[in-house]
Formats: sequence, structure tokens, C-alpha cells
Amino acid sequence: MSEVFNFCAGPAMLPTPVMAKAQQEFINWQDTGSSVMELSHRSGIYIAMAEKAEADLRELMSIPDNYKVLFCHGGGRGQFSAVPLNLLPTGQTADYIVDGSWSKAAAAEAKNFGDINVINITKEDNGNISVLNPTEWPISPNAAYVHYCPNETVNGIEINEIPETNGVPLVADMSSTILSHEVDVSKFGLIYAGAQKNIGPSGLTIVIVREDLLGHAQIATPCIMNYKLAADNDSMYNTPPTYAWYLAGLVFQWLKELGGVKAIAKINQAKAALLYQAIDDSDFYQNTIDTKYRSKMNIPFWLKDETLNEKFLSESEAAGLTALKGHRIVGGMRASIYNAMPIEGVQALVDFMQKFEKRNR
Ligand code: PLP
Repeated sequence: MSEVFNFCAGPAMLPTPVMAKAQQEFINWQDTGSSVMELSHRSGIYIAMAEKAEADLRELMSIPDNYKVLFCHGGGRGQFSAVPLNLLPTGQTADYIVDGSWSKAAAAEAKNFGDINVINITKEDNGNISVLNPTEWPISPNAAYVHYCPNETVNGIEINEIPETNGVPLVADMSSTILSHEVDVSKFGLIYAGAQKNIGPSGLTIVIVREDLLGHAQIATPCIMNYKLAADNDSMYNTPPTYAWYLAGLVFQWLKELGGVKAIAKINQAKAALLYQAIDDSDFYQNTIDTKYRSKMNIPFWLKDETLNEKFLSESEAAGLTALKGHRIVGGMRASIYNAMPIEGVQALVDFMQKFEKRNR
């Protein structure tokens, strides 16, 4: 089979060297005669691997010592519940910034656990999407925390400036942007990310939480969502997603060998610039997001003639460029170009788009 570039928003492609290593070690890991997934999470050899994965992530993101790194179950949506359960005491309110469909879903879920103040920061005008600058967000100084999503996977909106919250803990859903560029972790109270885009396979969720935020969970918090319990038990209060943790560890090693987050950020910048340039240079395709807030990970684009959508999708699929269909909420196309997508994949997409345009003008 010839090379396939998978543009899926998640689960997404993993780096080729990671897949090769995982395949090589699949049934006999470190001469144990077993697969990683067959070993106890309490065995010394597994714990050493798990600790190394955490240390590598700490190094990649320069995570300060007063933060815990948790390897959890439940995906991004699991955290939509876990965050209010752990951080929103009865009688307080949390601010939820809504810049797209995932932050909207997070706010809707949080409403089940406490008082939520929803702040919409996007506006649509004639199909064009504008975003309110973080300095203008009306955040309450008394909020228990402020939740936002720096990269909206469905809508293709990315907010690069970290909002100033004047002491209110900032909580970020980084599911589709973690490890794609450098961030100052010390500005956040909590960061979470489902693994299936830039980290590894689904089934694993990373939570990075400042220690002073632990220990205030609502009484009804299920044990597997309780951050303090997870932290006190090194994320092994119950059986963690062991194989996903191992694969995440391989991804962290791959990223370190590549030069870390700074190096991948440059590549990501170049990939996104290549694709946006191709869209902007053509009157056949368009992207209507305010240019300052365009995502570098998830790039939605629309054919001006929407009757060509099915043709575009079937021909791109046949050319080995898969999963380009846009999310049903926004329609059109979407190219998710996470860390594992090589620039050659983006170039192949641009070449295809240009040829498709010529054939169908
Ligand atoms: N948050 C963001 C930004 C996402 O992109 C997604 C999924 O794509 C989710 C949350 C939900 O993640 P999960 O399906 O792991 O619950």
C-alpha cells in the first residue's frame, strides 16, 4: 500500500518511528517475553517505564515541581466532569469561556455540578468568525476558576495569548494543542488533554495540576476522578490505561529526540503556513476565521462550490489523503495536522488541492 496521510482530528496518526518501535516490542517487551499490556502496573519494570514517561513529559513542558502530573482515564469529556467536581466548591461560581463546540460542551457538563457563568467570545458576521481578545474577557475576580479551550478542534480557532486572570486559577482543555508549541505551565492552575491527538492512543488523559488545588473535591466525586487520590497513588489507584501510557512514553521520547517542543513548534508553524497560504491564494477554497486566531493544528476549509464536497472527499481518499471531512457542525473540510503529521503530508494535500481546483473550475 502506498503512503497514507491521515488527517483525522482524533484518534490521529502517531509518529512513524513510534509505531515501528511499538511493533518491534509488541509481544516481547524488554525481554520479558510479554507485551507491555500483559504486565502488572505494579511490577517494577512497568513502574520504571511509567516514571520515565512522566519525567520526559515534565522535561518537555518544563513543568514546575509544585505541579502533579496525572495519567487518568476518561478522555477530555471525563475532565469536563472531573474539573468542577474537584475545583468548584458549593456556593461558588466558575467562569467558562466559550470559543467553540468543545468549550461549550465543557460548560454544559459543568452545569451539572455547580454554578457556571458562560462567557461567549466569538462572533459570526457574514460567515466570518471574530474572537474577543483575552485582555477583554469579562472574568469575575471571585470565580473559583476560569475554564477555556486554547485550541477548538472543531472550529479551528486557536488562542495563543494566555489570559491574565489575576489570581483566579486558569484551567485549559489542551486536548488538541498540548505539546504543539511551548506554554508557560506556571500560568495555569490545571491543564488537561485527551491523549489521542498529540500524545498517544485514546483511553489516556493527562492532567497537570497545581498542588494547592488538590484536596477540595466535592463529596460526591467518584474515586477515579479524584485528583488527590490519583496524585497520592501515582495515578495507580485503579489500573491505569497501561498500554496507552507506554505508547505516550514512546511519543515523549520521539519528541525529545526531535529537539523538544520548541523544534516541533517550528515545524507546526511551517505546516500551517503552507496550508493557509494555499487556501488564501485561491478563490476556490476559503477559511473564514480571524487570521490572528487560526488554529495550527486543525484547519477547516470550505470549497466555495459545496456541490463538489463529495467529489473532493472521494478523490482525496483515493490519493491517500484520508479523513478530511469537516465536523458535521461546521461542514466543509478539516485537515488536522498534529505533531505526527510530516510536512510532506501537508505538501501532498496542497498539491492535491491545487490539481483538484484546476480540474473543477
Ligand atoms: N476537548 C477537545 C478540545 C477535543 O478536541 C475533544 C475531542 O476531540 C474533547 C475535548 C473530547 O475528548 P474525548 O472524546 O476524549 O472525551
